[in-house]
Amino acid sequence: EREVLGASARDTTPSYDWFQTDDLITVVIYTKQKGMNAELVIVDCQHKRLRGEIILDDHSYLVEVDLDHEVQDDFAVNIAEKVGKVEIILKKKDRMQWKVLGLPLESHNTLIRRTERGLFYRKCELVSKTEVTHDTKLFCFMLPKSTHLQVPIGQHVYLKQIIAGTEVAKPYTPILPFLPLDFKEPFCQDGVHIYLMIKIYSCGLFTQALDHLQIGDDISVSNPEGNFKKSQAEALEELFLLAAGTGFTPMVKLLNFALTKVDCLRTVKLIFFNKKEDDILWRNQLEQLALRDERFEVQFILSEPAEDWMGKQGKISSALLSECMKRSKKDSKVLICICGPTPFTEQGLQYLEDLGYSQEEMHAFTA
Ligand code: FAD
Ligand code: NAD
Repeated sequence: EREVLGASARDTTPSYDWFQTDDLITVVIYTKQKGMNAELVIVDCQHKRLRGEIILDDHSYLVEVDLDHEVQDDFAVNIAEKVGKVEIILKKKDRMQWKVLGLPLESHNTLIRRTERGLFYRKCELVSKTEVTHDTKLFCFMLPKSTHLQVPIGQHVYLKQIIAGTEVAKPYTPILPFLPLDFKEPFCQDGVHIYLMIKIYSCGLFTQALDHLQIGDDISVSNPEGNFKKSQAEALEELFLLAAGTGFTPMVKLLNFALTKVDCLRTVKLIFFNKKEDDILWRNQLEQLALRDERFEVQFILSEPAEDWMGKQGKISSALLSECMKRSKKDSKVLICICGPTPFTEQGLQYLEDLGYSQEEMHAFTA
């Protein structure tokens, strides 16, 4: 059901217009929102179908038309951040005057809640697959030229494929290709490649099919989803990351952001829970980073260690958290992020609450 907007909301409802030259079609979206940025603009243009989605907090504004004439695959997106103007500049295939932009599709020019807007998928090509551990691989997918999409920190995408005749979709959290060790400059993503670190389960329905993808094969990738807000990490003094297994994935971009962009940050501590030593993802990179940046510390905790393991062992517990997570100052601004198997995350949140952390100080990554 579409939301009926009140008069005050209508004043801030985005609108759009379009212009043309001999070679170009420019679609302009007036979002009427300050602080627009590239992560809030998702554009796809395939087979004459233009879809431009603007994320406005928990709402989504959509321009969706069947274009009057053919355009080339690549296009440009310009964003005037302060005034909230978004331009999508398409290149005409043929130099001719268009009478109309195109035929509006069903959801064209609507502003609705994000949760009501179905996920949109586009085909991406698998360009590489490299081993991370005995069961986990780093997959690199390439977005088509005809897509503008950047996955924000803490958000995930859905991958979709047909398995034995049925469509199956599962969520995965994009990471960086490696942990940048020099945290002076934020790692710049190219906007073309999406890196996913995925554990292949021997009986896993989806991951077995993923593992059988060949380089050059396509898979459908959705728009981003997730409820983490970058503002939660701004002005932080201490950041604790509690990750279990592949629950490490949302921590990668967050770690990079915190160490490069959060000036008042004093410490980041990653407490990383795994079964065995050889399950630890990016262990070497994490240890290197801890050596390079004195604000960063990592602790590995194994639930099924070998006899010679000298480090900590066990599972998440109240005693363990109170021991590993001491505030360095009584009233410093703290954020604790947690991600892993559902029981791990739920128990963790409960223990943290028992230890006196407030809801605002905790964030759980979930679907
Ligand atoms: P399934 O066929 O569902 O089963 C996987 C294995 O676990 C099998 O061996 C099965 O026997 C066992 N199993 C299934 N259900 C349970 C259960 N309830 N308790 C115990 N064992 C069970 N995974 C990543 O590798 N990388 C990511 O970046 C990533 N991001 C995610 C982001 C979100 C928001 C969420 C919710 C999950 C994410 N996951 C990620 C997990 C991913 O979505 C899949 O669940 C995972 O890949 C398994 O899919 P599958 O179909 O191969 O396995
Ligand atoms: P795993 O089975 O290898 O376990 C890793 C560690 O998690 C264990 O050593 C243990 O310390 C802890 N753990 C496991 N089960 C537990 C339980 N029942 N109670 C308490 N602690 C427990 O982990 P994995 O196979 O890498 O699975 C990672 C999980 O993280 C998956 O369930 C995946 O869906 C989830 N995940 C979620 C997100 C997200 O929501 N954003 C992102 C990535 C991964």
